[in-house]
Amino acid sequence: MKSRRQLIGGGIAVLLAAPSLARARTAPRVVVIGGGFGGASAARTLHRAEPRLDVVLVEPNATFTACPFSNEVITGLRDIADQRFNYQPIAADGIRVVQAEATAVDAAARRVTLGDGTVLPYDRLILSPGIDIIWGALPGYDEAASERMPHAWKAGEQTLLLRRQLEAMPDGGVVVISAPANPYRCPPGPYERASLIAYYLKTHKPRSKLLLLDAKDAFSKQKLFQNAWAQLYPDLLEWVSLSDGGKVIRVDPTTNAFETDFGTHKADVGNVIPPQRAGRIAALAGVADRTGWCPIDPVTFESRLIPGIHVIGDAAIAGAMPKSAFAANAQAKVCAYAVAQLLAGETPEQPRLINTCYSLAAPDYGISVAGVYRPANGQLTDIAGAGGTSPIDAPLEQRAQEAEYANAWFKTITREAFL
Ligand SMILES: Cc1cc2nc3c(=O)[nH]c(=O)nc-3n(C[C@H](O)[C@H](O)[C@H](O)COP(=O)(O)OP(=O)(O)OC[C@H]3O[C@@H](n4cnc5c(N)ncnc54)[C@H](O)[C@@H]3O)c2cc1C
Repeated sequence: MKSRRQLIGGGIAVLLAAPSLARARTAPRVVVIGGGFGGASAARTLHRAEPRLDVVLVEPNATFTACPFSNEVITGLRDIADQRFNYQPIAADGIRVVQAEATAVDAAARRVTLGDGTVLPYDRLILSPGIDIIWGALPGYDEAASERMPHAWKAGEQTLLLRRQLEAMPDGGVVVISAPANPYRCPPGPYERASLIAYYLKTHKPRSKLLLLDAKDAFSKQKLFQNAWAQLYPDLLEWVSLSDGGKVIRVDPTTNAFETDFGTHKADVGNVIPPQRAGRIAALAGVADRTGWCPIDPVTFESRLIPGIHVIGDAAIAGAMPKSAFAANAQAKVCAYAVAQLLAGETPEQPRLINTCYSLAAPDYGISVAGVYRPANGQLTDIAGAGGTSPIDAPLEQRAQEAEYANAWFKTITREAFL
């Protein structure tokens, strides 16, 4: 990489003058939209890679609520306070954190407009807006319906609502979860949720049942989950695959009913995990394609549709990489270094990225899948033989160790991104 003087044109005095957002700029400015796992990690990595870049992080919420481990919150195993992070440590690094929603992007003029009308010029823009739910894509499921049948797929009030519903359900009740078709945020998430809710029922309301209706025939860590369910929840948890009539075609929030082609299931507690797409700002910026997700270059994460805008995390089409916090963090680092190099007139290197997804089948029963990825044929592809899953026949001590690794991973990634 070139020296800092080359990168910013030597404008140190201008930078030290604590300029306003609209001031004349000498240092290149990178605006990062979204202060979640991807955006927070990207802003920090950029600042570390090239401290004299003008990095601005735009995020509407004062507090971020993390989804990983929110299934433990739903089942009373964890406090939601442990999921929450504010942006003071990031601001203390010297990164400008603007608490606002980005409402428009003018890619030709390289400007972002914020909710209050402020205009932020940028040299490069990084988008990590996460997901939006496609209301109405599942007939009957609109925003109002989610107050009765929570999705809890964005952590916060929805997480707590589902928790309260489970607590209020009488012993002997039926919990129904519907899982969507691919792609969606956190491929193993619905199965971890089903497992931990089954654990809650087994330990608090043992006459109850859980039905997991699926729009797929195959899912992440399937053998490991099914093995765990057979061991831990044999008469409690039932998974219904697409072929067996698991695809939900309509829900009715007034009766808590899930309709499939094979019949209707009525729930005491209904959790709908609905179809999703990239956060709305991606479409507004013109970087989402007809799938609702954002095609990117696998070396730089620059949009294939609009130059100067990079997309990371759940919003991106990242080939074989799943939509996970681990992946968002890994992509953020690769993207941040690529952006710093591009601004310095250099050519980014070919990256290697890692992902590991831990899931809990019970509080002391962890399983994992790991992968290593590289750009090939314009996509991020799996490096054959470099990853793998936990052994199917591991002893319980190993499952307990993996649960500890999962906890340690959450501490490490949240420290890196937010603390
Ligand atoms: C139940 C559950 C369990 C999970 N467990 C795991 C796990 O164990 N391991 C794992 O790796 N992953 C897990 N995940 C997935 C993980 O949460 C996501 O993959 C990760 O959060 C993606 O990061 P992101 O930066 O793309 O989006 P997010 O972390 O959601 O961040 C997006 C941010 O962008 C902001 N934003 C959106 N629009 C705008 C706008 N217009 N202007 C400004 N800001 C905006 C939002 O407010 C938000 O703060 C889980 C997810 C769920 C639902």
